[in-house]
Amino acid sequence: MTRAVIDDSDWKRKYLDALREAEAEQARWNAQERVLRRIVSRLCAVGMGTDPEVDVLLQRLAESARRDSDTAELQAVAESLADSVLALDRRNPTRTLPATEAATPPEPTPPVPLAESPVAPPGEPRSAAERWSASCTVAKRLLDELDAADAPRDATDALRATLSEANEDRDLAVVLDRIGDLIAARAADVAVERTEAAAMLAQVTTRLNEMSEYLSGDSADRKAVHDAADTLNVQILSQVERLGGEVRSSTDLRALQTLVAQRLEAVSENLREFRAREARRFEDYQARSENMRLRITQLEAETHSLSQNLDLEKRRARTDPLTRVANRASFDERMKQELARWQRYRTPVCLLVWDIDHFKAVNDTHGHRAGDGLLRAVADCLSEGRRGVDLVARFGGEEFATLLVGSSLTDALKVANQTRERIAALKMHFRGTPVPVTISCGLTEVRDGDTATRVFDRADAALYRAKEQGRNRCVAE
Ligand code: GH3
Ligand code: MG
Ligand code: MG
Repeated sequence: MTRAVIDDSDWKRKYLDALREAEAEQARWNAQERVLRRIVSRLCAVGMGTDPEVDVLLQRLAESARRDSDTAELQAVAESLADSVLALDRRNPTRTLPATEAATPPEPTPPVPLAESPVAPPGEPRSAAERWSASCTVAKRLLDELDAADAPRDATDALRATLSEANEDRDLAVVLDRIGDLIAARAADVAVERTEAAAMLAQVTTRLNEMSEYLSGDSADRKAVHDAADTLNVQILSQVERLGGEVRSSTDLRALQTLVAQRLEAVSENLREFRAREARRFEDYQARSENMRLRITQLEAETHSLSQNLDLEKRRARTDPLTRVANRASFDERMKQELARWQRYRTPVCLLVWDIDHFKAVNDTHGHRAGDGLLRAVADCLSEGRRGVDLVARFGGEEFATLLVGSSLTDALKVANQTRERIAALKMHFRGTPVPVTISCGLTEVRDGDTATRVFDRADAALYRAKEQGRNRCVAE
């Protein structure tokens, strides 16, 4: 689409041609103005010698005309001169052309090339009739030029009529003055047309560049944009084709401007619609993205919460709710793993089985709540100082188990006794009454050919012996 618009540069060439023509026309009118100034200068020379006051003004006018002074200055001097001439006429009403020349204006002479001076060069005096004739010829030629340049026809016709009836210098001066105004107005129009054409050209170029940039720009929704751009391409291409045809058949700058403006407006409308559609599409896309982002955030939060809940559930599934140490299921699983590891690496693993002494009496004396408190305190003591690889579990009721990984039976017995002593040293109270607590422990080391049940039974047998031997003791098996 961009290429199509830019390649179709017929109208652009046409515009540049029109600009060049406008420049040439302005140059022509500037030349005309220079000729007029020379006429004024010569006429001033012709008029000299009639009256001293008029002579001074004629001198000033001639100088102004020669110097290319601005129109305002020229006009001011010309007006003073006109007043002086009127005053002179009033004093000397006989200052007219010969009656014959005045009655029958000179026959039209061939057009005088504008580059040439219509008056005799300095040093070659001409007769008054010759000078009159030459000036009239230039004036007529200028009026024809103005007609060709679309100056107001009634104005030029009125000047022609005045010129044909002119019989004194003042009439000719008035006609030349008016011609000067028309030329200035026409030159100003040409300048405006040129400016307008240049502005239009700049505007067209800017809009085309905008279109090119926008359409060649990257877009996230490429497929959709591609389809929309295709539609726009067809629309704009048709406008440009129409414009091309109309421009080729157009010869008038104003009509050309109107055509280009209309076509550009249509193209701009297509572009505005396209942009509006793209803006909506982009908004939709943004809304979708935002929804998606929110949904993802929501999902992340949900996933996070689910994962936390799952962890919690897992922990709950593996934890004894009362004492917060591992439960029986967790112990069984871990026992299996440690047995498998022992089979591979033979790293020592000891099982300690604990049972609170006379716990039933605590429940019976102080109630279940006191018993629960005691269970929690014992669990804390069992967990205290344990390494990460070790495991403390509530096996059931007031029975606990500890897996000591990497400890020999001898070391395990030492650890067990230290723990037992800490528990025995607990100063438990319930409602002001001391609640003494001791614990017994049976322990064993995993051996070749062991199963979980076998290890446990051995430890449990040792516990039984500890009970039998009087409680508050640890027995290794
Ligand atoms: P021994 O010295 O021979 O071990 O005597 P004991 O009283 O500790 O042994 P016994 O097995 O006769 O009593 C265990 C008691 O532990 C019975 C039961 O009511 C109590 N018990 C089991 N689980 C819980 C519990 O979760 N909370 C409380 N408060 N008591 C429990
Ligand atoms: Mg028991
Ligand atoms: Mg007990």
